[in-house]
Amino acid sequence: MKVAIVTGASRGIGSQIAKQLASDGYTVVINYAGNEAKALEVLESINNNGMIYKANVGNFNECEEMVNAVFKQYGQIDLLVNNAGITKDNLVLRMTSDDFNDVLNINLLGTFNMCKLVSKIMMKQKYGKIINMSSVVGLHGNAGQANYSASKGGVISLTKSLAKEFAARNILVNCIAPGFIQTDMTDVLNDNVKEAILNSIPLHKMGNVADIANMVSFLASDKANYITGQCISVDGGMNI
Ligand code: NAP
Repeated sequence: MKVAIVTGASRGIGSQIAKQLASDGYTVVINYAGNEAKALEVLESINNNGMIYKANVGNFNECEEMVNAVFKQYGQIDLLVNNAGITKDNLVLRMTSDDFNDVLNINLLGTFNMCKLVSKIMMKQKYGKIINMSSVVGLHGNAGQANYSASKGGVISLTKSLAKEFAARNILVNCIAPGFIQTDMTDVLNDNVKEAILNSIPLHKMGNVADIANMVSFLASDKANYITGQCISVDGGMNI
């Protein structure tokens, strides 16, 4: 059985990715930052040989402990989905350096930390897949999200660099750029902002977590074995 680590899998998009991968036959490690009850709910709904693991992806030592524990338990890591992410939105004039650093630390450095640690194992296996979570705003930028947009733009170029670096070892690295997906992250937006975003989506509706999990499922499958270094938009047409 193949083994997948999904970061930020206690809620939202990550929890659906974990459920989808389990139904695709993966043993899934459900990483989370603090919400143990939600992580356990996901594990119980999957009901296979997986585990939950608390680790802050922005902290290299915590990531290293998690990756070592997973490898010790299963002896292989076939798939890494770097999904964990946060927002701390504000206009640049009001955005503090801490707000900028916190978002970069989790969204971009966290992705780097996990890629670095897991790729060491995948290189020895001469096989592996990595799927990173970017965003439509990583492609286009967004007022009020300079920190988040920069982190997600960084995820795209990190993905392309790693795809080039790892291709010779049969490790495929891609990223997904979701548009506006209904989760806790977008529930906090006020109705005016939501309406403005809806008007910018050609399909004029929000996406749901399954839309993203289905793309992860495809990229993780053998049907996508000739795709690497790509950023795939799943956004109702926002990136047209
Ligand atoms: P969400 O509902 O806010 O869930 C965030 C998840 O990340 C939770 O499982 C949370 O764990 C975990 N997390 C947060 N900080 C972490 C850390 N330092 N270390 C490990 N895990 C951490 O978010 P979402 O909407 O599902 O978004 C998932 C990903 O898709 C993010 O990368 C986001 O940027 C991206 N994305 C989302 C949208 C959208 O419209 N929703 C659009 C584009 C891109 P706890 O439950 O323990 O807090």
